[in-house]
Amino acid sequence: MGSKTQSTMIINDIKVTALEVPLNKTYKGSYYSMTKRATLITEISTDDGINGIIYNGDEPEEQLEIRNIILNEISPIIKGLNPLNVEMIWEKCFYLTKNILRNRSTVIKAISCVDSALWDIVGKKANMPLRQLWGSYHDELPIIAIGGYYSKNLNDLNSEIEDYQKLGISGCKMKIGSASPEEDAKRFIQMRKFAGEKFILIADANQGYGEQEAIEFCNLVRDYQIDWIEEPIEWIIDRQSLKSIRYKTGIAVAAGQSEISRQGILDLINNESIDICNFDASWGGGPTEWLKVAGLCESNSIHMAHHEEPQISAQLLGSVNKAKYIECFHPDRDPIFWNLLENKKIANGKYKIPNLPGWGITLNNDFINKYKVTV
Ligand SMILES: [Mg+2]
Repeated sequence: MGSKTQSTMIINDIKVTALEVPLNKTYKGSYYSMTKRATLITEISTDDGINGIIYNGDEPEEQLEIRNIILNEISPIIKGLNPLNVEMIWEKCFYLTKNILRNRSTVIKAISCVDSALWDIVGKKANMPLRQLWGSYHDELPIIAIGGYYSKNLNDLNSEIEDYQKLGISGCKMKIGSASPEEDAKRFIQMRKFAGEKFILIADANQGYGEQEAIEFCNLVRDYQIDWIEEPIEWIIDRQSLKSIRYKTGIAVAAGQSEISRQGILDLINNESIDICNFDASWGGGPTEWLKVAGLCESNSIHMAHHEEPQISAQLLGSVNKAKYIECFHPDRDPIFWNLLENKKIANGKYKIPNLPGWGITLNNDFINKYKVTV
């Protein structure tokens, strides 16, 4: 105790770099499509010589606005503060969401970037990977790919699985919710038959079905080892209908990525809507909020997943007992994970959670220089 054990470091500066990488084709899910992969790299420097750095999100249309919020609104609030006081800084930034005329989700995304970079500083200061700082449970976790996008040729699904198997990835979360339950089930069953029994297979409707369609899909694939169905129904009616799907089909339901606060997750829990929570730290306020959500879920026997973001989810999921899988994409769909992140290890279907301090990642500067957006 006493002043010798207290660090008095302060935040000197914040830098934000936007990346945008064109994709080789259009990737189509239920009611959306992607032609680019984008992200924001947030770097916070301190007078202690420690820099916190991380990348968050995939918002091509929104990321310059998020960057502006960080540089013009959050930076003046937090410069000069002790970066180790993460909770206090989070509360100060949360103030920016009080304006009822704002798009709060955009502000929360900006807070997520800053909170993530601050935690990197905390981990580096403690000289520990973040999962150890948070109380480690896993050194490695199964890694799956988000894929199985809609395509005219059903055989594309088979070659995609071959690619995953070559990369050492142990499963796929495939897209449903746009076609009929029968067509989607046909795609799911084809993937199951081609991939074999050990391959993890999940179906993500991205809020595309109605309740009856979701139940129909579940009944069609129930004998084909579906690990869970994710965001099966449209957002406006989801709480009670998610519960109905759970109880009527017996198939596990995942949701949470569309919530931007712990209160949203509490609502899903109180309505018995989910078996698995995939709250996204980059969309929901950063690790500070995610860890609170993980505590709520642990108390209610709900497993934790994380929507995308392997550079972040690995340390977060590594710190909780009931963790599911780390999620990535095919290299064509996410050139950022496969090229920007230098020190990743995938073996036997599992992702080795980095052991360096903080997030434990190193980034490729040539890739950053090639794809940074200059405005
Ligand atoms: Mg999803």
